[in-house]
Amino acid sequence: MSETVRTETINTALGALERVLDRRLVAALEVCARCGICAEACHVYASDPRPEHVPAARAERVRAVYRRQHDPLGKLFPWLVGAKDLTEPDLDALAEPAFASCTLCRRCTINCPFGVDTALIMRAARAMLTATDRAPEMLVMLADAAIARGEHAEEFREIYREIVAGLEHEAQERLGDPTLRIPLDQQGAEILYVGLSGAHTILPAAIIFHEANASWTLSMFEASNYGLFLGDPARAKAIARRIVDEAVRLGVKEVVLTECGHAYAALRWEAPNWFGGEFPFKVRSIVEVLADYVRDGRLALDPTANPEPVTYHDSCNLARNGGLIEAPRIVLRAAVQNFVEMNPHGKENFCCGGGGGLVAIPEWFETRMRAGRKKAEQIRAAGAPVVATSCENCNLQLTDLNGYYDLNVQVVGLMELVVNALLKARRRHAVPLPEAA
Ligand code: SF4
Ligand code: SF4
Repeated sequence: MSETVRTETINTALGALERVLDRRLVAALEVCARCGICAEACHVYASDPRPEHVPAARAERVRAVYRRQHDPLGKLFPWLVGAKDLTEPDLDALAEPAFASCTLCRRCTINCPFGVDTALIMRAARAMLTATDRAPEMLVMLADAAIARGEHAEEFREIYREIVAGLEHEAQERLGDPTLRIPLDQQGAEILYVGLSGAHTILPAAIIFHEANASWTLSMFEASNYGLFLGDPARAKAIARRIVDEAVRLGVKEVVLTECGHAYAALRWEAPNWFGGEFPFKVRSIVEVLADYVRDGRLALDPTANPEPVTYHDSCNLARNGGLIEAPRIVLRAAVQNFVEMNPHGKENFCCGGGGGLVAIPEWFETRMRAGRKKAEQIRAAGAPVVATSCENCNLQLTDLNGYYDLNVQVVGLMELVVNALLKARRRHAVPLPEAA
């Protein structure tokens, strides 16, 4: 038996694998009956049925390395159990399956008879690639920019205050109400709302919070967490820390994240592990808050503002991995006239093909368009001219699929539909001013 010479790069990659090797990952790595049931569950395989797109096949690349390091037989007789020394060409070849053709959506997991979490394995692969400088440059750049923004928050606080004042004016004009405010740094507010870069996640939220008479304040930071996509817990924690510290400093009761699937997965489900326990505040998606407002009658909505049939694309991170299936439907049933389900939907919904950070990586545009074929077919079959979603990544991917596959639909966010319905209800209930004498 000969052992491949270990370079520094290989040691670094193996070290990264060891650091993320917890009980969940060990279970995923050790259990696979190679039955292949997961193949059709994966949107990448369903859209482009090649053997390398079977979830178990992509996971096997990491399993072989794990067996060589941890399986007693793999250490002695690697050929017997499919164990393999990691090489630099293996690492190079891992980038495509880990970053481009697995969106970490976990549809394979819920369809696997053993619940094998292939996404977790591919996240470990991403950790190995990030540690050895093989991660997509754009993801690294976005993660590091977010960390730098946290480190230099004081330097742009005043600039941001001016930007927010401009947005406040825009929101007032749209609602026709000069009393609307976008509070920033509001000590003691109940909600810390975390949007994304750009006005499109802040303006509709400002209108909704105003109409619901909510006690809220806007975060200085954006919800996205590219550290999670890199499989890099240190970067992911540094990005999350900005929001955690801000929420604690302001003493809010809850952090409400904008329409963003992975941001919810990061702060709601992963971050307590990175910080070693639950936070002194709740973490919710705006989708849950909207559902509460609708249920509690805090928003007057006129669904005739959205008269065309609307179908809904469930974000994998919100629905399958986060359990938010009924909440968006409560909102849709109140805000639109004709809601049509996509088939399948909810936790069985197919990934749009843009998850896992893929939508941010320009060089893999064709790959994600090919992987989105299944989603394009679902949208066509639903037959609705409007496709709503509650995730920025999904929104971008669905918009690209719309052009690529000539779907001829309009892609909208849930908040956008709510604001349409809310503005129409407001106009309907407006008391006409008396005629001037
Ligand atoms: S991951 Fe699950 S479904 Fe896929 S081959 Fe292994 S055991 Fe079968
Ligand atoms: S996590 Fe999603 S994209 Fe990755 S292998 Fe499983 S089904 Fe396919």
